[in-house]
Amino acid sequence: MRPSIIEKSPADLHLTPNWPDTAEARVAFSWAAAMDGLSGLPGGGLNLAYEAVDRHAEGPRRGRVALRLLGREGRRREVSFSELSRLTNRFANLLAGLGVRAGTRLFVLCNRGIELYLGVLGGLKCGCVVSPLFPAFGPEPLETRLRLGEGEVLLTSESLYLRKVAPIRDRLPRLRHVLVYREEGGPVELKGTEDLHCLLGESADSFEIAPTTADSPSLLHFTSGTTGTPKGALHVHGAALTHYVTGKYALDLHAEDIFWCTADPGWVTGISYGVLTPLLLGVTSVVDCADFDAERWYSILERERISVWYTAPTAIRLLMRAGVELARGHSFPALRFVASVGEPLNPEAVWWGKEVLGLPIHDNWWQTETGGIMLANTPAMPIKPGSMGKPLPGIEAAIVHRREEGGLDVLGTEDVGELALKQPWPGMFRAYIGQEERYRDCFVGDWYLSGDLARRDADGYYWFVGRSDDVIKSAGHLIGPFEVESSLLEHPAVAEAAVIGKPDPILGETVKAFVSLKGGFEPNTELRDQLLGHARKHLGAVVAPKELDFLPSLPRTRSGKLMRRLLKARELGLPEGDLSTLENP
Ligand code: ATP
Ligand code: MG
Repeated sequence: MRPSIIEKSPADLHLTPNWPDTAEARVAFSWAAAMDGLSGLPGGGLNLAYEAVDRHAEGPRRGRVALRLLGREGRRREVSFSELSRLTNRFANLLAGLGVRAGTRLFVLCNRGIELYLGVLGGLKCGCVVSPLFPAFGPEPLETRLRLGEGEVLLTSESLYLRKVAPIRDRLPRLRHVLVYREEGGPVELKGTEDLHCLLGESADSFEIAPTTADSPSLLHFTSGTTGTPKGALHVHGAALTHYVTGKYALDLHAEDIFWCTADPGWVTGISYGVLTPLLLGVTSVVDCADFDAERWYSILERERISVWYTAPTAIRLLMRAGVELARGHSFPALRFVASVGEPLNPEAVWWGKEVLGLPIHDNWWQTETGGIMLANTPAMPIKPGSMGKPLPGIEAAIVHRREEGGLDVLGTEDVGELALKQPWPGMFRAYIGQEERYRDCFVGDWYLSGDLARRDADGYYWFVGRSDDVIKSAGHLIGPFEVESSLLEHPAVAEAAVIGKPDPILGETVKAFVSLKGGFEPNTELRDQLLGHARKHLGAVVAPKELDFLPSLPRTRSGKLMRRLLKARELGLPEGDLSTLENP
């Protein structure tokens, strides 16, 4: 049996946590004091892009590499803070030239590359509301989001434009400008578009940043659509403070770090932590512009001397699936902190990190709505594998029960209920665009309700139980899918597992599991019985699945989240719902 807690000693940490995570340090924390880490606009106010780029470009870090872009065929490009400042100024000037005003909605449909950074940061400088889109979306999900978000300007590549935007262009009358670039370089001539690099060439190097404040809208992020139709969460420039504090306290970023965030830029993590947070802390980011490949990823970790790595369970599972042998050909002496977000991190994956990378993986929890990390296994605290950790300083969390008649009850230790956060914190979202009632429904009194079920243990660690929609009620028991899936994943044959509740006349619901297998294992009745037996032995008869199907892979959103609702709809023959974010439709 593996221990249920991973204690840390300074020797195996080779890190000096920015925050000691003691009771006193928690009490002493204040957002107002943390604000000292930011500088504010010279003329007053706050702008995310100024904090992320210009204040470094004006100071001693100006020459430091901000971005190290790794292109497809071994191409590399390094961009310093001062160069990034100049380039984003040019883009902001270009936008101003197009008549863009404060609040104009700028959509960014870009693969990873310098243009993505220009779009996000230049747009923020100009006072735009920037909304990133998944490059993998088809025309329809793009149209829905551009319409809902009232997009006026779009930045995209030539090939994405031709394949995905051209077919819907006529249906988007609000879209006034489409800026296009060729990923391989060179001019673009496309009817109805403007050539980004040509316009950049004509734009000035200096720009006076729009006078935004902490309350000015900044980014519009669409949720992953795991539980239904994606919602458009509107954020403000004040989120800079959340990014800054969480980057320091939860990801342990220090000035000399080389940071790599693997999240797709179409998803909130890819912007909050792929673009903004490392820049806010003046840290060098490695940006891998190619697709996932296990061997390539291990090489990047090793060769680029990544010291802090932020990734997701779905990526970790792919590495696990590729086998330990591949990792053994590499060593990671520079790596000192690894964190994960997006889905529950099964204990199996935490231990895999320790065994294969030499470091346990630190799980943390947040949502599109929260703008930044809320709960974390911080560098200073022992890890409990399978737990999301504790609230960060400045964040008050609780497990609550929403009363039917209104109001809520705060529950006690070990009670299962909805994970709630006391508002406000600087990064929190301000609206679901076009859905006021849905927004209001997230709040009860002082609390923001997350829609996730969890419990808190006696040491203050939070444990994910499931999405409120995914929780299974069987014979009077509340069964969290995560617990059952984690147990199945302990079996050597299992690569991925998802469980759903199936209506049952006597028990209310029974648990049904879907499993995909690791290479070298074949689905057959014997293995099915073995897996069901394994689960029964570890979980007991009430909680263990009664049925199990093998699938070649499980349905996931583009941000890597299991779409249990789709498995359930298919199983029960119900409508499949919004599949715009499904990875392999
Ligand atoms: P939608 O709201 O459209 O259904 P979504 O909730 O998946 O989609 P995101 O905001 O991208 O969209 O994801 C946040 C959710 O991801 C959380 O509410 C939680 O369910 C899950 N999640 C994130 N991190 C963790 C974690 N460390 N452990 C467990 N679940 C996590
Ligand atoms: Mg959600």
